[in-house]
Amino acid sequence: MFKKVLIANRGEIALRVIRACRELGVATVAVYSEADNESLHVRFADDDVCIGPPPSRLSYLNIPGIIAAAEITGADAIHPGYGFLAESSEFAEACAESNIAFIGPTAEQIRLMGDKAAARALVQTLGVPVVPGSNGAIGDPDEAIKNAEKIGYPVIIKATAGGGGKGMRVAADPEAFAHAFQLARNEALAAFGNAEVYVEKYLAQARHVEFQIMGDRHGKVMHLGERDCSVQRRHQKLIEEAPSPAVDDELRTEMGDAAVRLAANIDYVGAGTIEFLLDKSGGFYFMEMNTRIQVEHPVTEMATNFDLVKEQIRTAAGAKLSFQFNGNRLRGHAIECRVNAEDPARDFQPCPGTVTAYYPPGGPGVRVDTHIYQGCVIPSYYDSLIAKVIVHGLNREEALARMSQALDSFIVEGIKTTIPFLRAVIQHPEFKAGEVDTKFIERNTDLLPATE
Ligand code: ADP
Repeated sequence: MFKKVLIANRGEIALRVIRACRELGVATVAVYSEADNESLHVRFADDDVCIGPPPSRLSYLNIPGIIAAAEITGADAIHPGYGFLAESSEFAEACAESNIAFIGPTAEQIRLMGDKAAARALVQTLGVPVVPGSNGAIGDPDEAIKNAEKIGYPVIIKATAGGGGKGMRVAADPEAFAHAFQLARNEALAAFGNAEVYVEKYLAQARHVEFQIMGDRHGKVMHLGERDCSVQRRHQKLIEEAPSPAVDDELRTEMGDAAVRLAANIDYVGAGTIEFLLDKSGGFYFMEMNTRIQVEHPVTEMATNFDLVKEQIRTAAGAKLSFQFNGNRLRGHAIECRVNAEDPARDFQPCPGTVTAYYPPGGPGVRVDTHIYQGCVIPSYYDSLIAKVIVHGLNREEALARMSQALDSFIVEGIKTTIPFLRAVIQHPEFKAGEVDTKFIERNTDLLPATE
């Protein structure tokens, strides 16, 4: 096992990794920017190093600074969390060069799956269905439009290096296409430093269903069931649940087998997620693989009772997977709501500031993963996620009631949050009936409070 793990992240996920290390008896190192010196991850880690000024590119994305912090503190492994450098093959390589274990897949695997067009090509050779689309990236607008016509409108233009819902544009017809193509390229270049895009059929009325994968270095790869992440705003997830109301045992086996086939083919080690779109007739299509722990991993933890972060650390250290799972043993029902420091009444504008009052929900089957506390300052530099409320119930009905009660009793004052909006979504008849697709939020404008 590792002796000391440096956590190259901040916020709730940094705390989550510290907890896992503590349980494993592994020491921890926090790194932080000047905006985060009062953060709980700094307080709870055994060691801490300031790695730079507030902007991410100067701190949490500063590879030499983070490697130096690991060397100074004697860390023998780095956990990247999600976001920031979690899917940077360059970072995984830099760790390897410094003889520090990267808790995640190899640089080569990150590179392969990080190129969405290349991942699609590989998946097709394994007999896993993909959304109909162009073969590889397209740079020429005329060639792109020919492809779009062949695929049939509507189409979605996606950045090959994409992530976090950025660099994606939907075009309903040829007139809209040229403009959308340029916008997607510009956005991709700005966000990822790479303008490459490809074109895919846009599946309206589809659900986002993803499979949690775990693998070890001893040839074992398994899935831990699915998460339904169809409740999204602008292609970003807001609420996730397991099991999916749209997946029965037969479909779970079929989709899970496809996910395991892909992960096993690349000898995947650690935690990964294979994302699919599921259409109304039960057809499923590979979208992408994320080679890291996901924001929504607690949903699977609650519905399986397994600790995915501990398992990630153990398998990175060479241990065998410690659990057995046959894919159909999700227990009860789990739901997660992402609480953001944003104002839903003002187009979800980020709302940084000081938290003046804080009281988290509790009781049976309620888990809150957060880094905030009364008096803390939410800086303006980073992602606006401030807490994840996860509930578990014997069935979906109980989980829904628990989530309602949890959101009702969650007090965060001093900043605007998405709690009232999430409450409205949870109580919406379509969500209650489990009948949502990725356009649910967009369609139901009544969910949004009137703009002041
Ligand atoms: P990112 O890596 O930026 O999160 P994804 O490929 O995971 O991008 O897609 C994010 C979301 O965008 C999906 O969950 C889905 O709602 C939507 N999306 C992506 N591709 C398609 C498609 N072909 N048809 C319909 N929706 C899509």
